[in-house]
Amino acid sequence: MVKLKDTILEADILVTSNLKNSVIKDAAVYVSNGLIHGVGTKKEIHKEFSATKIVDGNNKILLPGLVNTHSHSVQTFLRGKADDFALLDWLKQVVLPGESHFTAEEVYNSSLLGFAEMIRTGTTTANDMLTTHDSNFGIKAAKEIGIRTRIGKMLMDYSNDFPEIIIEDTETVIESARKQIDEYHQTQNGRVKYSLNARFLLSCSSELMKLIVETKDEYDDLMIHSHASESQAECAEVVRIFGDSYFRSLKKLNALGSETILAHGIWLDDDEYNLVEQTNTRITHNPSSNSKLASGICDVLRYHKLGIIVGIGTDGPPCNNNFDMFQDMRLAAFLQKIKHLDELALPAEKVLRMATIEGAQAINWGTEIGSVEVGKKADLVMTNIDEVNSFPLYNPVSHLVYSASGKDVSMTMIDGEIVFQDGNYLTIDIEKVKRTATEYQEKWTE
Ligand SMILES: [Zn+2]
Repeated sequence: MVKLKDTILEADILVTSNLKNSVIKDAAVYVSNGLIHGVGTKKEIHKEFSATKIVDGNNKILLPGLVNTHSHSVQTFLRGKADDFALLDWLKQVVLPGESHFTAEEVYNSSLLGFAEMIRTGTTTANDMLTTHDSNFGIKAAKEIGIRTRIGKMLMDYSNDFPEIIIEDTETVIESARKQIDEYHQTQNGRVKYSLNARFLLSCSSELMKLIVETKDEYDDLMIHSHASESQAECAEVVRIFGDSYFRSLKKLNALGSETILAHGIWLDDDEYNLVEQTNTRITHNPSSNSKLASGICDVLRYHKLGIIVGIGTDGPPCNNNFDMFQDMRLAAFLQKIKHLDELALPAEKVLRMATIEGAQAINWGTEIGSVEVGKKADLVMTNIDEVNSFPLYNPVSHLVYSASGKDVSMTMIDGEIVFQDGNYLTIDIEKVKRTATEYQEKWTE
């Protein structure tokens, strides 16, 4: 990792995601000890600060690092192995058997490859779910590459026709989660926070859900991260087992609230939308995953009208098949427009906020990350605007949401440290990681 005490990052255009959505031309940002200390024009910043390093911003947009509010880094080795399935078959036939057979080393390398793709494509923070076993190796990968993350093992104690090998007994689930909290929560200069990842109601008993809620309440700044109301078939199963709809069942288990973020949230009735509003529960919208698994279209507009905070997530490579948040921003906008037949349902400016500051708020990290403002953590991304897809460029926010892709990212800084620049990964040996994926592929196809 390139250790930088203080840096001035320049840019032709700075997109801040601050309250006013300010955009500054010929901009610069001064970073010292991992924090943003100055934001302004180049002239203003160079007048006020001097730095040991200057990052050239010619032909660049500088923006806040993207916040991926729902990811499964550990599933990266399963990319392309689970195409064209519906949710429950997809889980039973490929994803759960795949996850459960990973060795510890594969958990590490698969997660590392996922995080590498994230930082390559402009994501600086991931709300990440690992798998049940050997998840310490996934956390190790996050620590080494330098990504900011809420992360933890997958919590599941109920098989429901899923491979038994991935299920643990209730006591083991909670004990191992508590051990991870003690070891990892609020470590790496606060860059790693723990997340209680209850997979979904079909893999968690009521007893486990209650213990997860109790555990969450015992610690500061913990969140519950789960999937909810993703497909109609899944919702019908929840009604059969729990005797009530998805969100009402979660409410009965006391699992809704501002310290809970739920992925998908597609098939809700009026009363359930009210429950989300009343409890201030956070939602992560995952447009690529929902499209590929034919799950449905999340009504983001309705959530927004109720004042609910919604982030954007990529979900995992078996259902997306990449971690490029730029693609998910674009699709999020398009799906709302088509769902509501309203071109203003989700404008570009709002989508970019969902992928930055509102994503940060969705995982209760909004006071520290998600916008380029003095006092915030220096999680910053630069994109090239000298590629053919950048001409002409009337509006930088429109460009970022509708035209740019993760491949345009030229630099990624997390906590004041550059982790990716001009095609180079500064914290890991990417060729080695790529080789491990090929080896896994060969093993699977033997
Ligand atoms: Zn997911």
